[in-house]
This record gives sequence, structure tokens and C-alpha cells, in this order.
Amino acid sequence: MSECIFCKIVNGEIPSSKVFENEHVVAFMDISQVTKGHTLVIPKVHKENLYELTPEIAKNIFEVVPTIANALKTEFEPVGLNLVNNNGEKAGQTVFHFHVHLIPRYGKGDGFG
Ligand code: 5GP
Ligand code: ZN
Repeated sequence: MSECIFCKIVNGEIPSSKVFENEHVVAFMDISQVTKGHTLVIPKVHKENLYELTPEIAKNIFEVVPTIANALKTEFEPVGLNLVNNNGEKAGQTVFHFHVHLIPRYGKGDGFG
């Protein structure tokens, strides 16, 4: 059994608010919403960080990002969006299963940046 929290989300061992899923990728709401609609996109396969991704896994992730961004745009009507990825503890990574943050932006004082 994996101890990885995101593997547990992939396996349905812990609940999450999923916004997208296909054979390779899951996207779900971040438990700690830095702004409304803050979403994480992860590969179903456990890879610790960017350095471990194969081109195929990278393709699987990034090909769905525009679809998810557009869904968030429709749902939450932000004025912008940041795509964020932290690799390594010193870079702010706290969960060591690769993930991309989609952070919708609402203007000055929206809680991020
Ligand atoms: P990092 O700091 O590694 O780039 O981002 C990890 C993110 O995972 C954080 O924004 C944190 O709020 C989120 N997170 C940690 N544990 C859980 C969880 O159990 N469920 C969800 N949905 N998000 C989580
Ligand atoms: Zn994992």
C-alpha cells in the first residue's frame, strides 16, 4: 500500500473533489484553496517530481490542462490563472507526487502572489 496521499486519491482511498479524470490523469480541488477553484492535476502513476516524468507522462498531463483551465474559467469567471509547479522541498514542494497547480486569479488581494 502506498503511503502517498495523492496515490490514495488516485485509488479512491481518500476522498477528493474531482474535476477531471481520464486513463492517465486526475484533477481535483486543492484541500487548501489559495483562491476559489484552486485545482491540482496529477498523473495516476506515482512520480515524485518533474525530473522523473517521461515525455509521455508530461504529455498526458499538459494536454488536459487547457481543458481544465477552460472549465475553471467557465465555472468561476476568474480574470487570470497561474500554472504553478514546485519541485523539491526548497522550492515549496510538500507532496512528493508530481502535480501542477491551476490557480484562478481574481485581481488584487485574491490571496495568491
Ligand atoms: P505543493 O506544496 O507540494 O506544491 O502542493 C501540495 C498541495 O497539496 C497543497 O496545496 C495542499 O493544500 C494540497 N494537499 C495536501 N494534502 C491534500 C489532500 O489530502 N487533498 C487535497 N485535495 N489536497 C491536498
Ligand atoms: Zn503518489
